[in-house]
Amino acid sequence: MTKYVYSFGGGKAEGSSVMRNLLGGKGCELAEMTNLGIPVPPGFTITTQAWAAFNRNDRAFPDGLLDQVTSALEKLEHDAGLVFGDPKRPLLVSVRSGARVSMPGMMETVLNLGLNDATVEGLAAWTRNERFAWDCYRRFITMFGDVVLGLRREAFDEHLTALKSRLGVKSDPEVPAAELRKLTQTYKDVVASRSSKPFPQDPRQQLELAIRAVFDSWFGKKAIEYRRINNIPPDWGTAVTVMSMVFGNLGETSGTGVGFTRDPRTGERRFYAEFLANAQGEDVVAGIRTPEHIDDLARRMPEIYDELLAIAGRLERHYKDMQDIEFTIQESKLYLLQTRAGKRSAAAAVKVAVDLVHEAVIDQHTALLRVNPRDLARLFVPLLDPRDKQAAISAGRLLARGLAAAPGGAVGQVVFDADRAVELAKDGQRVILVRPETSPEDVAGMYASEGIVTARGGRTSHAAVVAVGMGKPCIVGASDIVVHEERRVFEAGGRLVREGEVIAIDGETGEVILDAVGRTEPQVSGATQEFLAWADRYRTLGVRANADTPEDAARAREFGAEGIGLVRTEHMFFASDRIPIVREMIMAPDTVSRRAAVQKLLPFQRDDFIGIFRAMDGLPVTIRLLDPPLHEFLANPKEYREMIEERARLEALNINPARKAALDEKLAKIDALREANPMLGHRGCRLGITSPEIYAMQVRAIMEAACTVAEQGLKVEPEIMIPLTGTVGEMKLTYDNTRKVAEAVLVEMGGPCTYTIGTMIEVPRAALIADKIAQDAEFFSFGTNDMTQMTFGYSRDDVAKFLPEYLQKGLLPHDPFSVLDQEGVGELIRIGIERGRRTRPGLKIGICGEHGGEPSSVEFCHKVGMTYVSCSPFMIPIARLSAAQARLRAREASAEGAPSA
Ligand code: PEP
Ligand code: MG
Repeated sequence: MTKYVYSFGGGKAEGSSVMRNLLGGKGCELAEMTNLGIPVPPGFTITTQAWAAFNRNDRAFPDGLLDQVTSALEKLEHDAGLVFGDPKRPLLVSVRSGARVSMPGMMETVLNLGLNDATVEGLAAWTRNERFAWDCYRRFITMFGDVVLGLRREAFDEHLTALKSRLGVKSDPEVPAAELRKLTQTYKDVVASRSSKPFPQDPRQQLELAIRAVFDSWFGKKAIEYRRINNIPPDWGTAVTVMSMVFGNLGETSGTGVGFTRDPRTGERRFYAEFLANAQGEDVVAGIRTPEHIDDLARRMPEIYDELLAIAGRLERHYKDMQDIEFTIQESKLYLLQTRAGKRSAAAAVKVAVDLVHEAVIDQHTALLRVNPRDLARLFVPLLDPRDKQAAISAGRLLARGLAAAPGGAVGQVVFDADRAVELAKDGQRVILVRPETSPEDVAGMYASEGIVTARGGRTSHAAVVAVGMGKPCIVGASDIVVHEERRVFEAGGRLVREGEVIAIDGETGEVILDAVGRTEPQVSGATQEFLAWADRYRTLGVRANADTPEDAARAREFGAEGIGLVRTEHMFFASDRIPIVREMIMAPDTVSRRAAVQKLLPFQRDDFIGIFRAMDGLPVTIRLLDPPLHEFLANPKEYREMIEERARLEALNINPARKAALDEKLAKIDALREANPMLGHRGCRLGITSPEIYAMQVRAIMEAACTVAEQGLKVEPEIMIPLTGTVGEMKLTYDNTRKVAEAVLVEMGGPCTYTIGTMIEVPRAALIADKIAQDAEFFSFGTNDMTQMTFGYSRDDVAKFLPEYLQKGLLPHDPFSVLDQEGVGELIRIGIERGRRTRPGLKIGICGEHGGEPSSVEFCHKVGMTYVSCSPFMIPIARLSAAQARLRAREASAEGAPSA
């Protein structure tokens, strides 16, 4: 016969911590605590296996379950010294759900079970507290009606509210016993009339119905939703724990509380708890009374306080982690009702992990696996104060939700264009740039802003990529927002928000909120630095940064980057002193004048590279040759509109023919460069092949900068990267051109300087022919932004139009532009690596798409044998920890030996 029921009580339990899957989190820890000799009220747990059988069995209890419950109940009566249904001293029980992972508030609980018209009198006499007994009974009927009989809570609560108003009292405790007795009768009438059966008086029947209801609650709407969000399999099911009730509301020597063994906000080592004298747990949760400081318990009952502290310390040492405990004191006797690993802030997670290593409770390996890498990013940026934000949302100030593109919280006045952002920021004002989407010429405005919101675009849209790089909170694809640039307003959530009004944005959740919300400061502590240094000791995957300027490069090093994996050179073309020359280059009528314009850009580029090489001081730097289509540099939509208007005016007035001819020429060029699918158009190496003078200038600038810095005694290692290669011919031609220029510069400058030429693997075809590409390419870097776009065929700029619905319908598990699609894109990467290294064993291979800073993608990169990941500077701590975790998990899986470190 399968064992479905496990008892605990009298200092011994049949279960233990290791039986979490069978007994649920609550059940297994109650058993473990019992075995540790910690005072826990006696009880028993019905297994998840019983749930599974019940579920298979068309929701009928499996054979033997009820007999096992009867035996366990007899043992429970013995351990508690009370009898279930005894009209004098009745045993009352709680019936709780408990899955193997905690699902807070998702499933059901029934307290005070075992009360009926007879036992309530016994409870009143025994506790000498009539009011207490009737209050328990009426609460029990409400809970039972709600959870077991499926009646609406309000059907009961409305009678209580009416009673209080008739009596002229505000709070529940002011309702006298006699009134509660009458109210209980009313509640029973509600049950009888609404469920057409009288309220069950037989405690045994109550128990069976409650067990069934807790089993069923696994399929409740909110539980299903919670499981979906948290990826919990539906077949895990729930255990049910039946435990003797203890009462914290039996007078001044009783009470109840919750506590953490360390401060969950900071991680500081101190008992952090709240206590309510003469109260039941429900009162704390329901906020009926404000809990007192735990010092109050120390004053009232010093021995109990000491006992509690000793138990808390013991539990923490036993579980080797900070615990969150629930306790009740019944007439000067302490009971623990629950213990579990405590939820904690990001800062506390790191501090607790580091402190536990220093206290020799855990090793570095365990500490590194305890912290969620995503949490680390939160330590380096300001966040919106969670309470303040919640209050704002409750007050109806949520304007819109978009895709969370870059973490952090920002508050500022709304502006609609980059110039205005720069202007106001110069005056010391804080602004948030709100745009339909951004383009490269908005970069200065983005830099001047506290945060960025766009109505369109996905997680690899321009706004998202640039904001992540700058460490600015950013929300993209907020399609509830309609921007009216001309009128300088946006519409959202049925409101009109004007330029100058203040909004707050949460780049972690994608919420846009009207008016200011308080912020918390970044919390980079010594503990964080120490923790990350441990991560570096364990990881084998390199971590580089995507950085475009010397400032970004310097920041990347502060965060721990070991090189630069991607310099997007086009970002250098947009500075206000360069864009006119770039436009001159594009507009040039012939090769000679184009060359002249290109040459003017050379000194700018050379200086940029010198700055970056210096900042990286000998670390490798991968510089990508120009990638975007040229039309991006020509005119933004506003300038284009203005040119059309000006030309129309000149034509109507028939004046200034020279200006009109110039405008005609420019507009014709813009029209000629316009593409239907620019992301699949004339960009990347295609541009380098049709306008070789641009790449030649860039290669020269890189090599001249490298020689200059090398002459000054610094080590430089430029890696010149060709974008968007798809064929062997493209690779060969661009490689040869690049090498010719680089060698010529070396001869001219006489500098010994090592450099390599490699390529991005972004076009799926390139991955498939990687063996041939590697005949020339000396390194690979996977551009997974474009590769995701081309593998799925989803435009990176338009994906936000349908992605939310796809996610909601479960058609995609994640945004593939954020979390690498290992099944499809990942397969191309595997092929690319295997074939590339077939030609060139030991080929250096990285990733520089946005996935390089996402934990599951970093783990994948470790597994497939990449050399490094490259991500924005602010994501580097995430990548460092994720890389360490990937290695530790792989080692655990293969049970490789201990580290030498
Ligand atoms: C990529 O495609 O992954 C990449 C890094 O290049 P970009 O985002 O600049 O196209
Ligand atoms: Mg790309």
